[in-house]
Amino acid sequence: MCRNLEVLYALFMLTFKKLSDKDNVSPVQHISRGFMLQTPAASEIQASLKTKGVRREDIKTALDLKSFIEKLDFSFFPQASAPIRILHRLSRITKGVRAAYIHPRVKNATDSYVIFAPALHKRLEKEKSECTLLLKNKGGEFILAESTKHIPPICMIAALAAHEVRHRVQQHFKPKLFDPKSLSERNPSDLLSNAVCVATLLIEEIRKSCKQRKERKHVMQMMTCRKELDALVIEITALHIFYQSHSIEKLIPLIRAGISQAV
Ligand SMILES: [Zn+2]
Repeated sequence: MCRNLEVLYALFMLTFKKLSDKDNVSPVQHISRGFMLQTPAASEIQASLKTKGVRREDIKTALDLKSFIEKLDFSFFPQASAPIRILHRLSRITKGVRAAYIHPRVKNATDSYVIFAPALHKRLEKEKSECTLLLKNKGGEFILAESTKHIPPICMIAALAAHEVRHRVQQHFKPKLFDPKSLSERNPSDLLSNAVCVATLLIEEIRKSCKQRKERKHVMQMMTCRKELDALVIEITALHIFYQSHSIEKLIPLIRAGISQAV
């Protein structure tokens, strides 16, 4: 699914600001020891966003995304669910961001997710024409769908939730990341293998675009790093799986991919 540069840049800005190399606490201890903020109830969020002028369709989309993130996050972190904030405003930096996972490496701080509600529905609708859906043809090979306009927004929401939760899984379970080098050759009937190819091409496009825009080196690295490629592979694959099954549970084994220990 295409990322636009603003999204990645803003995501980078959100996380980079809080990075510190001095944190020696193990990540899993870190999240369980940190004081845990509670995610407010959906009805409370709904009322609050409504009074702040967020449109009904955006509130619904944000709450659907929140619910998917919660379900997926709980599967991996039942003892330390990360709170989810839904913001009603976009800043210059967060313009274009749909959601983000934040891991502040500061003692006693906790992981969290952020969802940016303004125009979320409209933005997802717009992105439908750019997103990547792989479908099996009669010969059993995966091919790019000719049109993605018909994809229900709920599929994109599920895929986005999988992307963000995979980032938290990357942080705490250190899975073996998907990587173009891990593919000896593309297997035309394997969804993940195809998703790796597509994600690699998308990351390459982002890299080119960064160069054209003369983006700073560390920003470009953040936007095109292996973790981002890996999360993109998960997102593309999740879109396909959810489109076929409409089951959020079916995304759990996918997000678990590459973890050596049982979770
Ligand atoms: Zn990401």
